[in-house]
Amino acid sequence: MADKIQMKTPLVEMDGDEMTRVIWKMIKDMLLTPYIDLKTEYYDLGLEHRNETKDQVTIDSAKATKKYGVAVKCATITPNAQRMTEYQLSEMWKSPNGTIRAILDGTVFRAPIIVKGITPFIPSWTKPITIARHAYGDIYKNTEMTVGEHAKAELVVTDKDGNETRKLIHEFTTPGIIQGVHNVDESIASFARACFNYAIDIRQDLWFATKDTISKQYDHRFKDIFQEIFEQEYQQKFNELGIEYFYTLIDDAVARVVRSEGGYIWACKNYDGDVMSDMVATAYGSLGMMTSVLVSPEGVYEYEAAHGTVTRHYYKYRKGETTSTNSVATLFAWSGALKKRGELDNLPELVKFAENLEKATIQTIEDGVMTGDLYLLSNLENKQKVDTQTFLAEINQRLQKLI
Ligand code: NAP
Ligand code: MG
Repeated sequence: MADKIQMKTPLVEMDGDEMTRVIWKMIKDMLLTPYIDLKTEYYDLGLEHRNETKDQVTIDSAKATKKYGVAVKCATITPNAQRMTEYQLSEMWKSPNGTIRAILDGTVFRAPIIVKGITPFIPSWTKPITIARHAYGDIYKNTEMTVGEHAKAELVVTDKDGNETRKLIHEFTTPGIIQGVHNVDESIASFARACFNYAIDIRQDLWFATKDTISKQYDHRFKDIFQEIFEQEYQQKFNELGIEYFYTLIDDAVARVVRSEGGYIWACKNYDGDVMSDMVATAYGSLGMMTSVLVSPEGVYEYEAAHGTVTRHYYKYRKGETTSTNSVATLFAWSGALKKRGELDNLPELVKFAENLEKATIQTIEDGVMTGDLYLLSNLENKQKVDTQTFLAEINQRLQKLI
């Protein structure tokens, strides 16, 4: 075989847990290291090692990502009570994704991988819809109370000089509930810039929607910040690329999305993004085909699969049973990161390799060779279900023909 492809800057590699950790190693051994002189700075975010380092490894990996600019992450366990005993944890460590997101101040973009033979539940969606979810504030940082009868609820803001501004929420005659939510201009602006930058990066239109007709100050603020930043910093670049920034009311956006063919980025407020990303993922078919990339306002990228560690399959794997876990989203995290690294370091060979890897993967599925989750969805006549390892071997055969 010809010489291996060389890299300049290392990728930040964040290893993870369970079935995705197994797949991670298979992908590297079968599809990457035979072709690339793979340079990574390795961080083991597996739960055992997070526990040993008191989660310092997660923080270090995020800092390394800031330093080098591109990371690839395996799915990781977010501990709960059951995991505390399973792994004998000294503390219920926080979600690594949450920690990394907070350090990078990033926005998550999720997009489906589309293949022939799998029709979305909304058949007109022939191109991917990428959802960008604002990851700060609103009801996720709320303060709630139940209120008894004959009570007055008010919003009170005390400024830095101690002056109070009050607004009546409601005079309760009978019992009820209240909730206080907030956001900050800085976070909304970061979110807006991440979305505009990403639209330029992938050359697609950007849609944004809120309920500004009802929420005349809160949601309207989102709309105004987006508009101001767009006009001042991005309009010209959008014009040059022939892409569009489009704002509409959330109700209208939902109707348009359903009637659309896809092929744009849909920026959502925190709650809308939570709900709509599940809706969009389900409509496209499989979690195993959903990619995710965290982008910071200064242009740092962290690629991963949108799904978790696929625990149920891992327990089968550990018992020596055959598994048919979909590795596509994890594979595309690697190809996405390698492509980005190649672009930044001006390594066209690396970019080409990553593109061929994606092509070979899609070809494999379109040839009818697929994992169990896709087998259930595919309408190809010649489809066959293969196990986790065979699927990667089939990709490798096609990859060799492409290069
Ligand atoms: P999950 O790992 O995404 O799996 C849920 C179910 O979805 C699986 O049991 C499987 O269904 C199907 N599935 C997901 N990915 C698949 C794939 N690649 N191939 C085939 N089927 C796939 O979610 P979970 O079971 O709720 O969570 C497991 C662990 O992952 C948890 O500890 C959680 O904390 C963690 N998690 C991590 C991340 C992350 O790191 N980004 C995200 C979410 C969850 P069937 O069993 O029916 O085959
Ligand atoms: Mg959700």
